[in-house]
Amino acid sequence: MLTENHYNDKKICRRCLLRDFAEEDRKVLRKYLERIRQEDRAEDAEYERRLAVCRECGFLFEATCLACGCYAEFRALPKHARCPKKRW
Ligand code: SF4
Repeated sequence: MLTENHYNDKKICRRCLLRDFAEEDRKVLRKYLERIRQEDRAEDAEYERRLAVCRECGFLFEATCLACGCYAEFRALPKHARCPKKRW
């Protein structure tokens, strides 16, 4: 079972979101986010607040939340979404 500190000792990309990656990865992000209707999305400020929490979270690994397996940016976008670890 993966734990929050599982990858902490390795030289890998932590605290990264897909928006930090190369253009090809950002295209993947846009494709996922476009699936969520505008009216179902969290307000911009709330979305950014959630992502700021994800950036500080030990479960974030290469843009993916290891607690749920989703890209953090996709997980955080729906207005009724919840963090699997109740951090936002
Ligand atoms: S959704 Fe929750 S558990 Fe996952 S990376 Fe963000 S804060 Fe951490």
